[in-house]
Amino acid sequence: MKETVVSGIRPTGKLHLGNYFGAVTNFVKMQYDYNCFFFIADLHSLTTHPTPQDLHGYVRHVLVEYLACGIDPEQSTIYIQSDVPEVAELYLYLNMNAYMGELERSTSFKDKIRSQPDNVNAGLLTYPTLMAADILIHKATKVPVGKDQEQHLEMTRTFGNRFNRMYQSDLFPEPHAFNYSDNLVKVPGLDGKGKMSKSEGDGNCIYLSDSPEVIRKKVSRAVTDGGPTEENQAKPEAIQNLFDLMKIVSPTDTLNHFDQLYNQCAIRYGDFKKQLAEDMIVFNSPIREKIEEIAKDTDYLRKVATEGAMKAKENAQKTIREARELIGFKTF
Ligand code: AMP
Repeated sequence: MKETVVSGIRPTGKLHLGNYFGAVTNFVKMQYDYNCFFFIADLHSLTTHPTPQDLHGYVRHVLVEYLACGIDPEQSTIYIQSDVPEVAELYLYLNMNAYMGELERSTSFKDKIRSQPDNVNAGLLTYPTLMAADILIHKATKVPVGKDQEQHLEMTRTFGNRFNRMYQSDLFPEPHAFNYSDNLVKVPGLDGKGKMSKSEGDGNCIYLSDSPEVIRKKVSRAVTDGGPTEENQAKPEAIQNLFDLMKIVSPTDTLNHFDQLYNQCAIRYGDFKKQLAEDMIVFNSPIREKIEEIAKDTDYLRKVATEGAMKAKENAQKTIREARELIGFKTF
């Protein structure tokens, strides 16, 4: 029997290169080898209080973009998280055995306290239990995610194992992070520090749907410095980030060429950024064109979402029946 895979992306806007290389590119490859469930994490996105119109629009974007990237609804189950309320039920059960101390220690929670101090809600605190429910509801063993999600996966294993021990069962297998490359991927942003992330603003991200003009503008504004002053000096974070992006989208020869210029203190950042932008455009264009085409076909989107919800619900219901039985919810 094929191993089960689950992963999802929060609909908080359009997908960026971080989502693509950290997650979606693996989804596309995995669908042929595994029993895959790919969802749109709209329940997770409620922590940021989107308006109803924005929420629906963002869900639609992610659905279109999943399809445009090559996730095939005939090969894998694509669904919207809120269409499967069994996930919320399992989240409730797992929350009963998730402790304040461990939830408060999560790095992503600490980051959120810093970045949105006026909205530190219980959903943020329990984000790892909802993610655990997403994965455990399908008894997944592999989870294609970026490096930023490693700690959440560890917590998922803790919650699943705790449930198993408490009810003396082996209901939940242990899930592990998965990436086809040797290491989990972290795609840097354009602001000179940290990862590409929607929460750092649109200027920090290259979206799959960005037009060539927008890409040129964003890359030209990427943070750099005064240039190297000593041969073969180590690159500061902002410059290393741009080289890391070039490694992702450009041919190796191009990367080596600019690396050599940097080491010889002969690099011109203007030329370097122009090349990076053009290579990003070459990469993005076919996906952007598909996004534009699929976005027009509402009937197709409805069909994919409806059929995906049915398949995901059927599988989730089996797990919930077993969990209820173990917990002691029995019919008279
Ligand atoms: P999110 O946008 O936080 O819901 O993330 C959705 C998926 O994209 C997760 O699997 C993340 O690990 C992945 N991801 C998001 N940003 C990055 C990044 N900058 N580098 C690598 N993976 C990322």
